[in-house]
Amino acid sequence: MSLELDCPVDGCTGVCTGESESEVMEQAEAHVNDAHPDLELDEETVEGLKASIESV
Ligand SMILES: [Zn+2]
Repeated sequence: MSLELDCPVDGCTGVCTGESESEVMEQAEAHVNDAHPDLELDEETVEGLKASIESV
């Protein structure tokens, strides 16, 4: 099984993939730190991201 998360930032086509939720979130954190340093990964944002993860 593979999981995928589309970056929620408008205009960003970033996609994070992984074999597990923690793997996807690890990539998402790295992507946000890299591409969206303004975006704060607070608990609410992280929960929203997790909710957007889809299996592909
Ligand atoms: Zn992005």
